[in-house]
Amino acid sequence: MYRQNAWKKHAKKLDKVMEFAEGYKHYISEGKTERLAVNEAIKLLEAKGFKDVTKVKSLKAGSKVYFLNKNKNVCAFIIGNRPLTEGLRILGAHIDSPRLDLKEHPVYERGGFAFGDTHYYGGVKKYQWVTIPLALHGIIVKKDGTSVVVNVGEEENDPVVGITDLLPHLAADQMAKPLAKAIEGESLDITLGSIPLLEEEKGTVKANVLKILKDKYDIEEEDLISAEIEIVPAGKARDYGLDRSMIAGYGHDDRCCAYTSLLALLDTKAKDVTNTACCILVDKEEIGSVGATGAHSLFFENTVARLADLLGIANPLYAARITLENSKMLSSDVSAAYDPLYAYVSDPNNVAYFGEGLVFNKYTGSRGKSSSNDSNPEYYAWIRKVMDEANVHWQNAELGKVDQGGGGTIAYILGNYNMNVIDAGIAVLNMHAPMEIISKVDLYEAYLGYKAFLIG
Ligand code: MN
Ligand code: MN
Repeated sequence: MYRQNAWKKHAKKLDKVMEFAEGYKHYISEGKTERLAVNEAIKLLEAKGFKDVTKVKSLKAGSKVYFLNKNKNVCAFIIGNRPLTEGLRILGAHIDSPRLDLKEHPVYERGGFAFGDTHYYGGVKKYQWVTIPLALHGIIVKKDGTSVVVNVGEEENDPVVGITDLLPHLAADQMAKPLAKAIEGESLDITLGSIPLLEEEKGTVKANVLKILKDKYDIEEEDLISAEIEIVPAGKARDYGLDRSMIAGYGHDDRCCAYTSLLALLDTKAKDVTNTACCILVDKEEIGSVGATGAHSLFFENTVARLADLLGIANPLYAARITLENSKMLSSDVSAAYDPLYAYVSDPNNVAYFGEGLVFNKYTGSRGKSSSNDSNPEYYAWIRKVMDEANVHWQNAELGKVDQGGGGTIAYILGNYNMNVIDAGIAVLNMHAPMEIISKVDLYEAYLGYKAFLIG
């Protein structure tokens, strides 16, 4: 069902679309960091009988297993009845989102306030992050190896933090600057408090904030060096629009594709799996997929080798390479939705529209498809067949007009294994803003499309 409005297909069973969205809203409201998104994913996997690989001695057709990497990256499989080396069906999404991170030495005092110094993560429009309620999530690891979980700002009675901005009355200089310069990265600092430490005569506001942290988490200032505290928009995802057709929330990019990919795997029956089905959720996409938990990590290759070993295949590392080369992948990542208020950035024939279902991007990249995985037409034709046979609503897009900008995904990284990969995801408005928007019917069609792909 190419380029048709998907709501009509669901007219008789809108409840299904709406109910699916409720599960997703819960997922992104609870999973605002990569660690939390992984925790929620593991709860879902275990509820469906997937076993932690560290508790597994061998695998066979029908086995369900997951691999956890440093609590920020997870990879789950249903073993198919064809030999592993005939290739996987991979759904790969990322679970990191643009945000602000606390620096290693973050707490300072100025003008009667204690602040938390931050360094933004990923592509943010800085002016969007001021004067909104923000929450703190993460962990602080002490020298003895124990860690404490930080979660402030989500409950109704929790305090929130935030970043100040100038009043319009005194913003003459600021308003004359280009948007990219109006708010500087170095001044994106969160306000942490304003009461001095009262029990000491010369007690400072900073000392009081550190005392609060000590009382609550039993940590010293130095422990913040080995911490990972992410500052994200506070509050839960909500219905958007009077017709409740959309979802407003933080982190749709790319947790909407992560959730639908994961659910597609969870809801696939083992008996229907021919090629081993896989869902991999990676970290660090927003900063180039680098590092141990990003798509460039050897974790995935090692995991497939371990899978081969547990299946009793000789020479598992070589088997992993052959398996990956024969695999088919959907790089499940969001696409920029057509915004009628900013129509000038899009080519109307090659842009994603809300309500028209799963979006395929043959290529991404920028300035002449640079750094893009450009999918083979032979593979794309197979995808079209699978989608049409499963009655999935789908559309094609590229990221904006030629020379307007661009972006990348993890597609090219897995493409390096010589496997067939294409980007397939959900259209997002306000991408990378603290409040992103998606359509509920696109979320549902993506889920249906991913399911069809796994057994197609
Ligand atoms: Mn993305
Ligand atoms: Mn992104």
